[in-house]
Amino acid sequence: MVIGGLHATVCADEAARHCDAVVVGEGESVWDEVLKDAQSQSLRQIYRSASDFDLTHSPMPRFDLLSGRAIPRWTLQTERGCPFACDFCGASRLLGSFREKPIVRIRAELAEISRFSRRPWIELADDNTFAGGGDANELLAALGEANVRYFTEADWRVGERPEILRHLAASGCVQLLVGIESLVFRYPGMGAKQAELKRIMDAVCAIQDAGVVVNGCFIVGADGETNASLDRLIEFILASPLAEVQITLQTPFPGTSLYQRMKQTGRLIEDRGWSYYTLFDVTYRPQPMTAEQLQRGFHRVIGAVFATAAAERRSVLRKEIWRRNPRF
Ligand code: SF4
Repeated sequence: MVIGGLHATVCADEAARHCDAVVVGEGESVWDEVLKDAQSQSLRQIYRSASDFDLTHSPMPRFDLLSGRAIPRWTLQTERGCPFACDFCGASRLLGSFREKPIVRIRAELAEISRFSRRPWIELADDNTFAGGGDANELLAALGEANVRYFTEADWRVGERPEILRHLAASGCVQLLVGIESLVFRYPGMGAKQAELKRIMDAVCAIQDAGVVVNGCFIVGADGETNASLDRLIEFILASPLAEVQITLQTPFPGTSLYQRMKQTGRLIEDRGWSYYTLFDVTYRPQPMTAEQLQRGFHRVIGAVFATAAAERRSVLRKEIWRRNPRF
């Protein structure tokens, strides 16, 4: 068995105890070597990719392996990494710098998926689609011509880019996951993503007016969180136009600046192993709440935001938004 990915990249020696070999960093650069060594039964314990993999040479994924499922969820990557470096995020730096896949490769992958499905549901396996800031029209056109429906992650600034909004729904986009993050703490590294809440929500409304549901993501438990701020968060979400919401507990994943900060200041809870790093369990000493208070407060937020009436209100909002989407 070979293990790779973000956690194994940071904790390679630990991962090596559970498998035959670990790939540190991007798999593409070393995969041929791994296969050759496996064939000759000479696998090393750890393989490290030396430099950023050039997405011009992305191999065609084995989409046929997904085609047997009742409703396949196809995954396609249009970029890797993110130009930002939010404190809590490992995806933006652990697998190299931000790169976009050439449109010719994306079109080839879409054509391959279309061999198995005439109207596929696709998850763009991106960290921040459209973040390159360049001309997004080629990507939107390629997706639109492939007759797909897709959801992806992007930052709220999409809502300030009319050239994207004009074609987003027609390209097949039905949902954007957008990190609004914490209402009490501005994380270092957020770059241009950091803005006034009103500006962010105006952008959210513009995206939803264009026929695309926004799944607003919030992080609970940053420094400064209190029971009063959690009450404000509940109030804000219940009154907001967001048609979908995701709420998680701040989690200092290894490899992130947040983890370093928590470790250096002795705030990681020592007996909380990786099995607690679920995004739903407190793994550090918050400030000013205690870990127990924060855990209870988090459950209170979840209970209120996902109560039946609130969930039904968002369901109605989603239907209204998708009525404006020609692809839905
Ligand atoms: S914008 Fe998203 S993907 Fe980019 S660094 Fe921040 S959390 Fe990570």
